[in-house]
Amino acid sequence: MALIEAALSAAAAARPVLSAAARRAVPLSSCAAYSAAAASSSGGDIEDSPLLPMPRRGSLLARFRDRRALAVTDITATEWCEKQMEFVLEHGKPERTQAMKAGSERHAQLEQERTADLLRFALEQVIERVDVTIRSAEELWAVKLMNFIVGANQLMLEGITREIPVIGVVEGSWMIGVIDELRMPPDGISVHPILVDTKTRYKPTVPSEAQKRNGRLQVMCYKYLWDNLISEKFPAENFFSYFDLDSSYLLSDDIKQYIRLLGLNAKTLEDVLKYFKVTCHTLPRSQEQLLLRYELQADHSLLEEYQFSYDARWFKDQIQEVLSFWQGAREPKFVTEEERWKCSFCKFANNCPINMLPHQDVAD
Ligand code: SF4
Repeated sequence: MALIEAALSAAAAARPVLSAAARRAVPLSSCAAYSAAAASSSGGDIEDSPLLPMPRRGSLLARFRDRRALAVTDITATEWCEKQMEFVLEHGKPERTQAMKAGSERHAQLEQERTADLLRFALEQVIERVDVTIRSAEELWAVKLMNFIVGANQLMLEGITREIPVIGVVEGSWMIGVIDELRMPPDGISVHPILVDTKTRYKPTVPSEAQKRNGRLQVMCYKYLWDNLISEKFPAENFFSYFDLDSSYLLSDDIKQYIRLLGLNAKTLEDVLKYFKVTCHTLPRSQEQLLLRYELQADHSLLEEYQFSYDARWFKDQIQEVLSFWQGAREPKFVTEEERWKCSFCKFANNCPINMLPHQDVAD
């Protein structure tokens, strides 16, 4: 199994030049099974599906996510406080706190552990190292799609994968995210992987309901995107047109070499998309039960494991609410009276009109 993570976090619309390098161990045999399936796909199988409406002029979506997908983190940040999201878009993100940095480091550590697992797994196999330079949006998407294929292979072969990218259309808007962890159930009976998200906490306290609600929305986004990739036709035509991508774009030798190392043969972005679609249709849907884990930053001890069920109705309502903000259908909302405590952690509090309003303090 293998991973390349060249510029995964870079904005999809950042074109034309993105330069990133990734060094990862790559076995030669893991994806060979896809060759025949993808080769059998006809050349012109991009589905005809109605184009999605373009974002309303002047909306936040049009101004800040033009030809880009909304990130799952955009959704959760909006759910946290719409006014704060607007401040971030208009003025940029405030400096990251120590707690935020520690959280990112923990994710990086979990990802490193996965890479170590991969290396152990790959020891018995032929290993090559590849440098991948990203030159265009088409190549960036090719790498993202390959990362999905690699992560999906790891899940099916080893029973666990981390940091796997997912993309899809949710309530009419393109959305992208990176699933923290997918693991197969330990019972060996169920074939449906469990979606897990690990959050780190600075203090040894259990999360508030607002934090849990935000976490639930995040993991439900991942479930929706994962299950949708598996059960629905990928809207390829929309994908190419919305992101302004050339489906017949010829990938660089670097990327083609990496893809060959995985046992695949792709020359264009469309070729990679075919492998991606074949992969999606071989995967199982995720479990209805989702898991949030809360760890203490200092020693990674477990504070709480919180299991909950996917709620399609609730999820749809939440997404529609968030999208109405992004689409400019209404003014941004402030936090509710019960959640005014969030304002004491907000870098924009001094400039926020909510502070002109009377309020009662609510403890965290
Ligand atoms: S001060 Fe409160 S209401 Fe205003 S942006 Fe910050 S969190 Fe939102």
